[in-house]
Amino acid sequence: MKKLNDNIEYCPHYGANLQGEPIPEKEQHHYGGATHFTRKIGISSLELDRVIKWQCPDCKQDWERE
Ligand SMILES: [Zn+2]
Repeated sequence: MKKLNDNIEYCPHYGANLQGEPIPEKEQHHYGGATHFTRKIGISSLELDRVIKWQCPDCKQDWERE
């Protein structure tokens, strides 16, 4: 059975795995139950003061945040 908090992600452009280092189990609750850090880079809007896009660390392309 698939784990509910399996937060594996892929770059929408080239399919690079964006899953980073594992998060220690006792700290996962700080990250919404995520099991791994993410390698994607958040691009913030100064106007909106929040992350509006993600960037892939490998191909440097970005995509809209869902
Ligand atoms: Zn990429």
